[in-house]
Amino acid sequence: MAASNQQPLAGRHAVVTGGGRGIGAAIATSLAARGATLSLLGRTAATLEATARRIADEHRTTVGAEVADIGDEASLSTAIARCVAERGPVAILVNNAGIAPSAPFLKSDAKLWREVLDVDLMGAVHAARAVLPGMLGAGSGRIVNIASTAGLTGMAYVTAYCAAKHALVGFTRALAMETARKGITVNAVCPGYTETDIVGDALANITGKTGRSRDEALKSLVAHNPQARLIQPEEVAETVAWLCSDAAASVTGQSIVVAGGELMP
Ligand code: NAP
Repeated sequence: MAASNQQPLAGRHAVVTGGGRGIGAAIATSLAARGATLSLLGRTAATLEATARRIADEHRTTVGAEVADIGDEASLSTAIARCVAERGPVAILVNNAGIAPSAPFLKSDAKLWREVLDVDLMGAVHAARAVLPGMLGAGSGRIVNIASTAGLTGMAYVTAYCAAKHALVGFTRALAMETARKGITVNAVCPGYTETDIVGDALANITGKTGRSRDEALKSLVAHNPQARLIQPEEVAETVAWLCSDAAASVTGQSIVVAGGELMP
């Protein structure tokens, strides 16, 4: 289908990692609402398939689901090759899949560091390596990396996550420079605390370790946000969809903070 004002991304194939739930599912929904064909990647077939069915029904677009471990290059590149074979060359890559285990630095062992770096940083690197040749051949493309406010400032008890997200921002900036004259943009979106399972897990962790109530724990999380609230996944998703639009062609190498004013870089 050709692009139109209502369906500006029609005919474009978007791969969203971690697209089965949370922010990734919201991003997939926003891109589908603009007409994109979708491939959702994640670990859990049932979650991916349920989300793919819902989005396909709601938005009458093609949505595929591929199981892959983002932290494993072979698994990821095989899944992306399947996406291309079934739904065509990738015009949009959203590197969203991520994990955020929290622990004091001295309790964060090498295994935890390796896992976080493999998923939160190297997953995006491997996915970009898999789709970039096609984008270069087409002379156009969009890569959006979901980083975090933790990619731009230090935060206690998430050293590995913070390091991986800072590296993801650095990767975004460097790849943006390399692709600037090729019709490809590469940007990062940096959400503050957003209402998904990651925050649910963080709240459970805080209540378990400190004995504080869930409400008290929530207050301590949203205290960082001048708007004193959690960000909604759809707010992150709309920013991603804009970055994927033709209107954002001159925006590259940026780290856009969606956090109610928490950071002003
Ligand atoms: P979430 O609800 O926990 O969802 C994480 C997603 O990543 C799931 O779809 C999960 O797939 C996928 N995933 C995790 N590890 C994977 C792996 N090894 N291979 C493939 N898929 C994997 O998280 P979220 O809150 O939506 O977070 C999405 C992104 O936003 C992450 O990069 C996170 O760091 C970032 N972020 C979140 C917040 C927040 O407060 N929520 C704030 C800033 C940044 P399965 O369903 O198959 O497990």
